[in-house]
Amino acid sequence: MAPDTLASLTNRPMKRGRKFLNTPGPTNIPARVQNAMHRDTMDLSDPEFIEAAVASLGMLKRVFQTEGEILPYISNGHGAWEAALVNTLAPGDVALVPETGHFSGSWSDMAQALGIEIRTVPGSWRRALDPEAVGQALADDTAREIKAVLLVQTDTGTSITSDVKAVREAMNRSGHPALLLCDTIASLGTIDYRMDEWGVDVTIAASQKGLMMAPGLGFVAANEKAIAVHQKCPNPKRYWDWTPRMKGPGYRTFCGTAPQLHIFGLREGLTCLFEEGLERVFQRHRVLAEATWKAVDTWAGAGAVELNALEPSERSHGVTTILVPEGTDAEQIRTVCRDEMMVGIGGGLGQLGGKAFRIGHMGDMNAPMLYAALGAVESTLDYLNIPYTPGGVTAAVQHISAFKKANSPTTF
Ligand SMILES: *Cc1c(COP(=O)(O)O)cnc(C)c1O
Repeated sequence: MAPDTLASLTNRPMKRGRKFLNTPGPTNIPARVQNAMHRDTMDLSDPEFIEAAVASLGMLKRVFQTEGEILPYISNGHGAWEAALVNTLAPGDVALVPETGHFSGSWSDMAQALGIEIRTVPGSWRRALDPEAVGQALADDTAREIKAVLLVQTDTGTSITSDVKAVREAMNRSGHPALLLCDTIASLGTIDYRMDEWGVDVTIAASQKGLMMAPGLGFVAANEKAIAVHQKCPNPKRYWDWTPRMKGPGYRTFCGTAPQLHIFGLREGLTCLFEEGLERVFQRHRVLAEATWKAVDTWAGAGAVELNALEPSERSHGVTTILVPEGTDAEQIRTVCRDEMMVGIGGGLGQLGGKAFRIGHMGDMNAPMLYAALGAVESTLDYLNIPYTPGGVTAAVQHISAFKKANSPTTF
């Protein structure tokens, strides 16, 4: 090596140690899931692949809690959104969108771009949506123009979870025949979800959040009612079309070459979920979320930062949105965490851009990983001279410790 090359290598700011990921998607991928993807590609109809695909779709049914069809796509969540829309709604159809935050807005924008007419049920970004308001909007639609309700279970921008079952009950009371389409991208695999029992017609999900997989797979689950609507839906589509995909598993399931390695990863990620047990997975998410709220409530003692979600029972178990005071740039907190401490956290979205940051605690996450994120945030508040009451990390530790004392032994 030439001496000047060596000189250029020395005294550079160098990051050491482990990089942490606390964004609400993508989330950490367990090593065994990464390893499951590290393998050779194979013949399109190799029985080993078909077996992995069948097993994955079967396990997904149990996560969605449905007997309906699962339609996988090589896409992100936006692709799955589009797949749900173009198979059930045609240009000129009307959809009702209860406002929950940034993601109800983006989904609604997509529907509009596809020629679907939108009616909105206005909502607060600090509370869950009001199921009665959805029921009322449907009852007011005496001409029965609304074809579908586009509902987001957990809006990742606000960190608020709405009550899907209560929305369905309100819809039923109105006697309105609209389909219920539900986005569970940020909630599936973190909290209970019962597609069939609750009466959801179409569910949308993606691989990179609670399912602990790499980004790149989108999922739609459809019940009989949704498939019947789909079969009469006249708008043109090919890649997204459910009908050829339902003849699987095989080449047509993915409208072309399957994402083979992703499917092996998906099977491993879902196996991890079932090995831990869904009830325990949900409990772990709840306790980590509560610990995060304890930390933020402690910092909030100084009157600067605070939790966005006002009502504890409505708070997401997978992500926490934290508001910063006027005059503070939340992006700066995120940048310091990422670039100086190697802890990735989320930024504020939509109208919360620059006004909030988000700590993800979903997927492959345990208590020490959460403490790393909380510790990075607490030290960033200090470093940037943002008023905070110290002890947030300790409050989180004590919350989890109390849980462990009552439920010993725990695995997180
Ligand atoms: C992440 C997310 C999306 C978007 O998913 P992409 O994979 O980024 O397209 C949509 N809805 C919700 C609720 C999300 O959390």
